[in-house]
Amino acid sequence: MKKIIFNFKSKETKKIKNPKNILGSKGANLAEMGRLGFPVPSGFTISTEVCDLFLKNKKKLGPNVLKKIKNELKTIEKDSGKKFGDLKNPLLVSVRSGARVSMPGMMDTILNLGLNDKTVEALAKKTSNMRFAKDSYRRFIQMYSNVVMGIENYHFEELIENYKLTKGVLLDTELNSDDWSGLINDFKKLVKNKSNKEFPQDVNKQLIGAISAVFLSWESNRAKVYRKINQIPSEWGTAVNVQAMVFGNMGKDCATGVVFTRDPSTGTDQIYGEYLINAQGEDVVSGTRTPQYITRYARKESGAKERSMEESMPKVFKQLNKILRTLEKHYRDMQDVEFTVENHKLWILQTRSGKRTAKSAVKIAVDMVKEKLISKREAILRIDSNSLDALLHPTLDEKSKIETLAKGLPASPGAASGKVVFSANEAERLNGMMQSTILVRIETSPEDIHGMHAAKGILTARGGMTSHAAVVARGMGRPCVSGSSEIEIDYEKKSFKTKNHIVKEGDIITIDGSTGRVILGKVKTIKPEISGDFSKIMKWADSFRKLKIRTNSETPQDSKTAREFGAEGIGLCRTEHMFFDEERILSVRQMILSKSKDDRNIALLKLLPHQKNDFIEIFKIMNGLPVTVRLLDPPLHEFLPKSENEVEDVAKSMNLNIKEVKGRIAELHEHNPMLGHRGCRLGISFPEIYEMQCRAIFEALVECKNKKFKLIFPEIMIPLVSTEVEIKIMKDLVIRIAKKVQNENNTKIDFLVGTMIELPRAALKAYDIARHAEFFSFGTNDLTQTTFGISRDDSGKFLNDYIENKIFDVDPFISIDDGVGDLIKIATINGKKQNKKIKLGICGEHGGDPKSILFCSKTGLDYVSCSPYRVPVAKLAAAQAQLFKKN
Ligand code: PEP
Ligand code: MG
Repeated sequence: MKKIIFNFKSKETKKIKNPKNILGSKGANLAEMGRLGFPVPSGFTISTEVCDLFLKNKKKLGPNVLKKIKNELKTIEKDSGKKFGDLKNPLLVSVRSGARVSMPGMMDTILNLGLNDKTVEALAKKTSNMRFAKDSYRRFIQMYSNVVMGIENYHFEELIENYKLTKGVLLDTELNSDDWSGLINDFKKLVKNKSNKEFPQDVNKQLIGAISAVFLSWESNRAKVYRKINQIPSEWGTAVNVQAMVFGNMGKDCATGVVFTRDPSTGTDQIYGEYLINAQGEDVVSGTRTPQYITRYARKESGAKERSMEESMPKVFKQLNKILRTLEKHYRDMQDVEFTVENHKLWILQTRSGKRTAKSAVKIAVDMVKEKLISKREAILRIDSNSLDALLHPTLDEKSKIETLAKGLPASPGAASGKVVFSANEAERLNGMMQSTILVRIETSPEDIHGMHAAKGILTARGGMTSHAAVVARGMGRPCVSGSSEIEIDYEKKSFKTKNHIVKEGDIITIDGSTGRVILGKVKTIKPEISGDFSKIMKWADSFRKLKIRTNSETPQDSKTAREFGAEGIGLCRTEHMFFDEERILSVRQMILSKSKDDRNIALLKLLPHQKNDFIEIFKIMNGLPVTVRLLDPPLHEFLPKSENEVEDVAKSMNLNIKEVKGRIAELHEHNPMLGHRGCRLGISFPEIYEMQCRAIFEALVECKNKKFKLIFPEIMIPLVSTEVEIKIMKDLVIRIAKKVQNENNTKIDFLVGTMIELPRAALKAYDIARHAEFFSFGTNDLTQTTFGISRDDSGKFLNDYIENKIFDVDPFISIDDGVGDLIKIATINGKKQNKKIKLGICGEHGGDPKSILFCSKTGLDYVSCSPYRVPVAKLAAAQAQLFKKN
C-alpha cells in the first residue's frame, strides 16, 4: 500500500523521487534535517496526496489515514516522553501547512494543540509555570476557534482589551494566570455563543479538526489569490506537518526567532535575523511585537538598545551559528531557519531556501560560485529571472529635495511614489484607474495581498524584516518600508500622523525601501546602472544562451536604455508610435482624414523629415545591429481625434469646417478597429503611406552611410499579413522605393523584407508567405487576440473569471498559450520548409516573459524582442531556457 504519512526520521523519505511534491517544502526539509540528526522536534508529515483525496472525498479524512495518524502520534509520544492528552505529562503538537513552494502566511497553522481544561493543569504543574500554561491554552483556543471553527479573532482580542482596560493595565505581559483563567472562561462562552458548540475537550477530535482545517485552507480565498499571482497550480495541494511543540515562551531562558544564513536584503555573508525572548513564533512573524536582532553587529548598525541574541544567549547563539553554517553547506543555498530555545535548549523548527531580494539573489549566487559551493550554471538557474525587474527600478535622486517624514525598516528595496491609501481595496480600485498608490497599514495580513500587488509600494507601522509585509513585498519586488513606529495611523480618519505632519488619504508620498525613509511628495528618481555582480551574472547568462535578445523601441531614449542593458538590436520599431507628439499627431490625423491622394501626400510630406531624422538617431544608437522597422499599423480608434479641441485643431490645419471633419470621422468609424483598416490593409489602400516610410528608412540609411556611421541592418516588416498576395504586393513596393533611393543617391542599400505573423491564417499559410519573406516576427499580442477571438482591449473585464474558473492558468496575453504556441510551431516548421534561412523572432509582449522565452527557445526561434527594462530578464531567462533544454 502506498505510504502517505512519513515520520521526520524515516529513512523512506530518502527514496522519494521528488520529496517536495509529496511532503511539501517544509516537510521535505524537516525530513532531511531529521535524517541528518539536527535537533528537530519529533513529528510527521501527511502527504500532499492526502490533501487531494481529502478535497475530493467530501472534505473528510478516511479511516486509513486516521489509523496512520494515530500510529505516528505514538512515535512522537515515544520520542518526547510525553503523552497526548495525558494528565501528568501532556504532549502538545503544532499542525502546520506546507505546500511544494512556500506561501508565507497564506494557509493555516495551529499551535499548542492538545490542551484542554485538564491538560492545562498538568502542563502548569510539569513546568511549574501556571501563567505560561494558561497563556498557551488561551492562545490555542483563539487559534483553533478562528481556524477550525471560523470565529473571527477580533472577538477574542476585544475581550482581552476590555479586560485590560478594566484592570487598568496596558500590556498582555501584565496579566497573570488568574487573569488568563478568567479570560479562558470568557473565550469558551464566546465560542459557545458564536458556534453553538462547546470548545472541544477531546484532544483527538482537536487533532482531526486541525488537520482538516489546514487542508481546507488550501482552498481559502487568500491562498487562491496568492496562487494566481505566483502561478502555482491548484492541483499541487498542501501537506500537513504535525510536530511536538517546543516552547519559547516558558521564561527568560526561552526564545524564538527567524534567521537567514545570509542577509536577505543585501546578500552580505552574515547571518541576519530577529528573535524575541519569552515568546512564540507567531509573535515574531505577525509583527505584533517588534523583535530584537540576532547579532551584535546588526543591533549596533541599527542603533537598537535591546540586547542581541549574541549578547544575551552567547552559548546558544554559537550553537545556532554552527548549525546555520552546516545547513547552508548541506543545502548549498541561503537558508531561512526558524528556531526556538526552550530552557536553554536549541530546537530547529524548519529550514528552507530563504526568500531574498533580487539584489541579494545576485550577490549570493556570485559569492557562492566564488566559494565553489555552486557552479556558474547553478548560479544562473538560482535567480528568478522575473525578479531582476526589481534591480532595474529607479532609486531616489539624493540631490533632489527630500523631506523625510519618518523612518522604518528597509524591508524591500526600490523607491516608489503614489497616493496614500489605507486599504487594499482602495489600492486595487485606484490601480484600475492607472493611479499609483502607496498602501499604508498598521501591519499587513494575508488578506491584503491583492492590495499589495496593486500598490506601487507598502508602508507599515509595525513588524520587522521578517513580518508578512516584508516577506511578501520582497517576493513581489515591491518597495516596502516596514515597522515605521514613527507614524501613527488612524484608519477612521484616513490619515497618519508623524512628528510634524498629518498625511491624509490621497496625499502623495514616496517610500525608499532601500533605506527605510518615508518622504513627503514625489521625489525624482535615478535609473539604475548594471554593474558588479549583476554584470557578472549577465556575462554568464550570455555565455549560456543561444537566443538573441532584441528590444521593442521607437525612441532614441528607449533605444539607448536597451543598448545599455545589452539589447542586440531592435526587434520591433512601431512607427505609428513615432507620431505620438502633438505636432506629428496632427499630420497623422490629416493623413488619415484626407479624402484625396493629393491631400494625403501633403500630410505625408510633413511627416517624412520627422521619420527620417528619428531613424537616423535610432540607427546611430544601434551601431551596426539589426533594426526591424514595422510599417504603419495604427488601429484607427487610437489615432482619430476625439475631443472637440482635437477636432478643431485638425479642421483648422486642413482648412475644413468642424462638420466636415466630424463627417469624415463618422465615415471612418469602425465597429471593430482591431480587425479593421489597419496594418498592411492600409498599405494596400494607400500605398503612398508605406512609400513615404520606406523612403524615410532608406534615406536615413544613406545619410548614415555618408556620415560613416556603423551601418545597421534594416529589416522592413509588414504588419497584419494574412495572405501570400498581400506580402508580395508590399515587398514589391519596398523594393521599388529602395531602387529609387539607390538611384537617386547612387549607392547600394542592403535590407531584408519580412512580415509579422500575427493572424492565424498567416501562421497556417506560412509556407506560402515565406516565399516572399526573409523573416517572420511573431506578433503574439494580435495572434493571441485573434486565435481566441478575445479583444486585447477588453479582456481585463473577464479574464479574472476565466482564471478563477480554471479555464486559464495564466492570462494568455502574459504567457503564450499552448494553442497559440501550436500556431507558432506550425509557422516555424512550414516557414523553414520554404526558406531554410528564414529568420524567426517574437515581438509581442510575451518576448519579455520567462515562460514564453522557454517556449521560444524550444521552438527554435532566433531571437526574442521585449521592452528595454525587460532585456536583462530576457537574457537570464534565455540562458535558463538553454540550460533547461540540456537537462
Ligand atoms: C503584436 O500584435 O504582437 C505586436 C507586436 O503588434 P502590436 O502590439 O503593435 O499590435
Ligand atoms: Mg500586432
